[in-house]
Amino acid sequence: MQVSPFLSTKNRPQLLEALQNQTFDLLIIGGGITGAGIALDAVSRGLSVALVEKGDFASGTSSKSTKLIHGGLKYLGQGNIGLVREVGRERAVLYQNAPHIVHPEKMLLPIVKGGKFNRFMTSIGLWIYDHLAGVEKSERRVMLGKRGVLAMEPTLEAGLVEAGGLYTEYRTDDARLVIEVVKTAMNHGALCTNYLKLDKFLYTEGKVVGGKVTDSIGGNSFNINADQVVNAAGPWVDIVRKKDQPSEEKELFLTKGVHIVVPHAKLPVKQSIYFDVIDGRMIFTIPRDGITYIGTTDTEYSSNLDEASCTKADAEYLVNAVNRMFSSPDISLDDIISTWAGLRPLIYEEGKAAGELSRKDEIFHSETGLVSIAGGKLTGYRKMAERVVDICANRTDKPTKPCHTQQITISGGDLEPEQIDNFIKQLLDAYSGSIPGIEQKQIQNLFNKFGSNTKSVLDFAKTSIDAKHDLEQRLLTAELQYCIESEMVTNLTDFFERRTGRQFFEPESVTGNHSLITKTLKTEIPFIISNLTKPELLEPPVFSASNSDKS
Ligand code: FAD
Repeated sequence: MQVSPFLSTKNRPQLLEALQNQTFDLLIIGGGITGAGIALDAVSRGLSVALVEKGDFASGTSSKSTKLIHGGLKYLGQGNIGLVREVGRERAVLYQNAPHIVHPEKMLLPIVKGGKFNRFMTSIGLWIYDHLAGVEKSERRVMLGKRGVLAMEPTLEAGLVEAGGLYTEYRTDDARLVIEVVKTAMNHGALCTNYLKLDKFLYTEGKVVGGKVTDSIGGNSFNINADQVVNAAGPWVDIVRKKDQPSEEKELFLTKGVHIVVPHAKLPVKQSIYFDVIDGRMIFTIPRDGITYIGTTDTEYSSNLDEASCTKADAEYLVNAVNRMFSSPDISLDDIISTWAGLRPLIYEEGKAAGELSRKDEIFHSETGLVSIAGGKLTGYRKMAERVVDICANRTDKPTKPCHTQQITISGGDLEPEQIDNFIKQLLDAYSGSIPGIEQKQIQNLFNKFGSNTKSVLDFAKTSIDAKHDLEQRLLTAELQYCIESEMVTNLTDFFERRTGRQFFEPESVTGNHSLITKTLKTEIPFIISNLTKPELLEPPVFSASNSDKS
């Protein structure tokens, strides 16, 4: 497969021109996982595809999740058998197609005094969960007594724990998953563009035939023509639908979910844990590369969709939950090094509270032909895309293939999981001569982001001639160069937050290298330099003053 020249930020002017020069079979609004998945499914079936994203790819909910590829144990409790089965089975497909960003992760579910679950229910629940999801025998749940749980996780509060269950989930990097799917779609011929906002729809005889978009970098507006349009705008789906038809019956119900990050030394959990909070909710603590992240909250949200953030009350809720559950010294708000807040676009159901609403996806049809999709999970994106593209394929006279994304390797994922260690060793052998001092762990870190494309990153590091830079800086600028050439990075936040996760997980590497990256961006892509000075970029992790998210 040829690599799309439009993946390079340097080719953005040509990409914008190409968007104006043809009528696409499909225009997709929204570059989160839903839109990206639809783009890949549609283009691989033979449709011509354009996708526009008003911010960066994954800048909406798709970079603010708990970062689990999971079957959604919680949804079993809600009786949502279909969702659990579908996303459970999708985990295996994703692990196969993107093993660099999907890692098996054991999850400990402690059964606590006065908690939601007892040992019998947990054992049955996890058994059903494993069977619905088609989990391999060797990975199925194991039930543990109190001693077993505490041996496995000594940081838990012994007085609360009665027993527990250990089951298999998968950890991912949500924003990287989106960009890898976008890259794969681009390599198949889709034209996907960030920082391009849909302003209004275009119509012929009452049917939607494209949209007028504005480039928030260059400032100019133009039309994109398409036979069909799909609205995959996540929490913004209703706002986009209202541009098409003033009001429709079903509305989305938005809830906010916040995560906080503390150094691992402050909450030294040995593995991921899913535990009860006193109010009956469940939250995760997940260790990852020197930090532990904790989440999530689930509260109604009706303020500005572009400004969802972690309030002091959100952070206190998570800190209190952790301090009750763990015997390690209490954490405080001062220990928090970063936070993120995402919005769940849930389908409104009369009389149900935020935590009770189903996470299933739903497709809305408008009389103009606009198809909108909302809800669902990161994990189930491929099947959501299949359902949407089935609709679009049925409506077009153009011959289309059946969905075959199950067989499409995601960019960077063209290795079997068992080949990865060997691949990393081969890279070390190949590059240790030209990048003095490089170690296996640094290549492993790059691999966890870029998979088999790590080779291209190392090629940039190899040719780096700036002798002033130490090895870490040399690798960092090589990552940036790769992200400019192949991942459409235009500014600091794209790079530090969504392409590398450093803003959340290694904030010190951001402050320490801010000016180095700014300088490289200025040199590499001078025509988008205005974007670098935007004030909202790279804010430190402060809590918004308001304790309420209702406007
Ligand atoms: P988004 O990612 O929000 O994408 C929509 C995009 O549309 C946005 O980027 C937005 O900028 C763009 N857009 C809006 N208006 C316009 C316009 N006018 N023009 C152009 N573009 C526009 N799922 C899991 O599987 N595992 C998890 O661990 C998990 N944890 C979660 C935790 C939290 C706190 C939350 C909130 C959700 C979680 N989910 C999880 C669910 C999952 O994150 C979402 O289902 C998924 O990310 C939604 O993706 P999306 O593409 O539909 O929406």
